[in-house]
Order: sequence, then C-alpha cells, then structure tokens
Amino acid sequence: MKQTKYIFVTGGVTSSLGKGIIAASLAKLLQARGYNTTIQKFDPYINVDPGTLNPYEHGECYVTNDGAETDLDLGHYERFLNKPTSQANNVTTGRVYLSVIEKERRGEFLGKTVQVIPHITNEIKERMQLLGKSGDYDIVITEIGGTVGDIESLPYIESVRQMLWDLGEENAIVIHLTLVPYLSAAGELKTKPTQHSVKTLMESGIKADILVCRTEHELSGEIKQKLAAFCNVKSEAVIQSIDADTIYDVPNLMLEEGLDRVALKKLNLPEKSLPDLKSWNDFLHRFKNPKQTVNIGLVGKYVELQDSYKSILESFVHAGAENNVKVNVVSIHSEYITPNNINDKFKGLDGVLVAPGFGSRGIEGKVLAVKYVRENKLPFLGICLGMQMAVIEFARNVLNMQNANSTEMNDSTPYPVITFMEEQKTITDKGGTMRLGGWDCAIKSNTKAFEIYQSELINERHRHRYEFNSNYLEDFEKAGMIASGYNPETNLVEIVEIPSHPFFVAAQYHPEYKSTVANPHPLFVHFVKAAMNKKLNN
Ligand code: GLN
Repeated sequence: MKQTKYIFVTGGVTSSLGKGIIAASLAKLLQARGYNTTIQKFDPYINVDPGTLNPYEHGECYVTNDGAETDLDLGHYERFLNKPTSQANNVTTGRVYLSVIEKERRGEFLGKTVQVIPHITNEIKERMQLLGKSGDYDIVITEIGGTVGDIESLPYIESVRQMLWDLGEENAIVIHLTLVPYLSAAGELKTKPTQHSVKTLMESGIKADILVCRTEHELSGEIKQKLAAFCNVKSEAVIQSIDADTIYDVPNLMLEEGLDRVALKKLNLPEKSLPDLKSWNDFLHRFKNPKQTVNIGLVGKYVELQDSYKSILESFVHAGAENNVKVNVVSIHSEYITPNNINDKFKGLDGVLVAPGFGSRGIEGKVLAVKYVRENKLPFLGICLGMQMAVIEFARNVLNMQNANSTEMNDSTPYPVITFMEEQKTITDKGGTMRLGGWDCAIKSNTKAFEIYQSELINERHRHRYEFNSNYLEDFEKAGMIASGYNPETNLVEIVEIPSHPFFVAAQYHPEYKSTVANPHPLFVHFVKAAMNKKLNN
C-alpha cells in the first residue's frame, strides 16, 4: 500500500492567524496538482464537540453529512476542496479523553496506570492516522488548534513529535504559522516573536520545516534570510502570508510563494502538473467584478460575531459570484426589531434571510421580519429556526391562531405549530442528541423548490430538535402556505413556501453547509436572483 504523507500545521505567537485558511489553501493547491488530499482539525478544548458551545464564543457549529457537529474550519475545508468531511476530520481533547476513559472502564488497559503518555498520545496518534490509513488519500493535512506553548496543546504537540519520529523525514513535515508584526513607530517588521515561537516548538522536540508568516507588509529578502537563519529553515521555506482582500485569494498567494512546491519537495513527492485553478479563478473573477449590488438583510441574534453565521456569509459569496452580483449582507439584530422601527431597518433591502438559532431570545423580532417580507413581497429565505418562525408568523397572522408558537419557546401555547419530534421525547442530554446530518427530502413537482433544485430527491444537512406539526398542515395549505419538501420516510415537513409570493421559501435543514466554490447552493443562487429581480422592479 502506498505511504500516505502527513503535513502538520501548528500556530505560534497568537491565535486567529488563519491556520484553517492556510491549511485549506495548501490542500487546494495539492488537490489541483492531482493529489488526493484531506484536512483534519484537532482542537484542544475539553468539550467533546463544539455543539454545546455558544456561537458568540466559538463561531458557528459546522455540521457534516454524517451528522458530526464540528469546528467551523471544516466548512472552509469543504468550501475549498468541494469534498465532504466527516466526524473523523475533527477531534477534540474531550473526545480523546472520553474514548480513553471508556476504554479504561471496559478494562482494556487492565493492570496499567492510564497516563497522558502513552495512552492519550496513542489515542491522538491513532486518530491522526485514521483517514491516512483508509487508503483514500495521498496527503493528510492536520491542523492543530490553539497556539504552541499553551498547556492544553501539549499532548497534541507531543503526538506530532512522535509521528515525525515514527514516519520519518520524507513522510511527515511541520508547517508553523506565525505572525511578523509591524511596529509603525519604528517603521519595522519584527521577527523576534517568530524566533521565540519556533524555539518553543523546539523545546517540545519539533523543528519546523516551513514557516508561514502572517504579515501586513511585504517581507523583504533580508527579513526572510534572517527568519531562515534564526529559525533553522531554508529561505525558500519562509513563506509570506500577506493580508488578503478575501480568503479566496489565499491559494493563489500561496502558489506565488511556492508553499505547495516546498511542501512537496520536503515530502519527496513530484510536483506533477501546475495546479489547475481555472474554475477557481473564474469564480474569483466573477466575485471581484460584480455587475451590480443587492442588499440582503440577515436577521439573527448572534450578528455581533461574524463567525456565528460563517457558512451563510460564504454561501452568499458563492451565490453572488454565480449571479455576477455583489451581495451586501446587512446584519440586523432580531432582538431590536420592533413594529415601530422595522420600516427603517428594512429600508433598501432586496431580500431577507432569517437565520437559524436556539431559545426564545429575539424570536419575536424574527416573526416581525417574516410578517414584513410576506406582506411586502420581499424575497425571503428562512433557515431552520427561520423556517419555524415563518410557520409561526403564518399561523398567527393568516390563520388567526393567536399565540401560536413552537413548544421550544412556549410549552403551553394553544397552537403548537412547531413541536418536539416523537423520537426525541425521551432524550434529556443536550450533547449530540439533535436530528443531525444528511437526510433525504422529496420535492413536490410544480413548486418553487422543484424549480430551484430541478430534482425530486435531495439530501441536506440538519441540526434541530423541533419540527412542523403536521396536524396543522391542511389548514396551512388551504390558506396558501404549502409543504413542498418532506422526508420520504417520516413525512416530516422539510420545506415550506408561499406560491403567491415572488420568493418565500424556508427550509428545516441548513443549505449553507453544502455550498462550495465549485457548487454554489441552488437555494442561495435562486434567492439572490430573486433579490436582483426585486431590485430591478423597484
Ligand atoms: N431551535 C430550533 C430546533 O431545535 C432550530 C434549530 C436551528 O435553527 N438550527 O428545532
């Protein structure tokens, strides 16, 4: 069997340097040279998965086809590579410990003292090689979350050291991402933080093979030489990562800097052909040269942190490029929408998306938003909680079901139009207990959904506990809101729409998790198109 090669990406100096984007860009280039490449992320926190983390703190929770709740970097991996990831691509310290402790309880280490080294590190190493051993990949890139020197990263760093030792020089390398800050008072770029960070890595027995240096200003040849000399790397292996206008520029920037070539050389792999980035660059061209702009309101309660709606924002980038239009996303905090200010807040919008979410904070603002778009015939896309709000709004204001609600928000509502699903009723644990991942959805013909998907059966990703209460479906359909998509096995309503409205579509699933550069999601593409038409007709 062929030897899978491993690239580890560590971070130094500070967090938020964009390890995920560097890893995804390198993977993109290697893939475009003809190497089967995958990326995985190892996170040092103790949560078993990020599903229970507040989006404010950690950004969006990304969901894979197999129903894993994962770090948002996996979204970048999929958007860049156009290949699905899975639970195996995201490991946390919590998951590692859980597994080791379960093994201990089962008696698998009987007689032994269970320790960080070797038991935790062995578990990490096993997981680091899981995808590599599947035989599906030539190259596995592993991003290590956190910053070198953090206490909590130590077992991962030690596992990387052991892997380098086990696999040998040409089979595993380390890319260290650091910051080269610019001190404007001195007018100078500073290499010292990088030197210290490389030294910290050395203390753990790891010599970086490649340095990727985040910087706001070009690194001169002299600075590169200095970094090379003090950090023990070849000067060709000092790669500049200058701030870019968009994350989608980074693969080209890394190509210019030769990151992929240096990595292949270190791994003793042939360069093969130049990366084929034609369709990527077509997308970039369309993205950067829009013919017009549309304004889309994003109504949610986590709007302060951009990362909370990462996949939605990126889906608009893909769908905008596809339509040759710039999508200007206007964040609107659902908690502060009132009947008095909604006209002002929604002025100038060509479409509105009501976002996913949990709990009752901000939901009345979401209901008001739906009422506004329904009455004013503004294009509307509802996602998950956004779809549930569309159902509640219709119940209250069209069907006159006063105080209709979801039982998530009001247990004693007289009209539980959104309710807890039967198979979930026995579940009390909050971690990993939702309806998650890819589920089939059958689409009715002669509907907007069919016009969009051009398919009778689709598969989309989910993350919810509550659902449309089908006891009310007949009432809704008679009054003009129809179910155009449903799960073929359980009949659970997956898509609702209002045929008399120019574009009113809402889905129980999350289309944003499946939009990629190569495959912009049809729901977003058509929604943006509807917003363009709205603008044209104004
Ligand atoms: N809170 C809702 C539910 O659990 C919606 C979830 C979501 O928007 N992802 O069903």
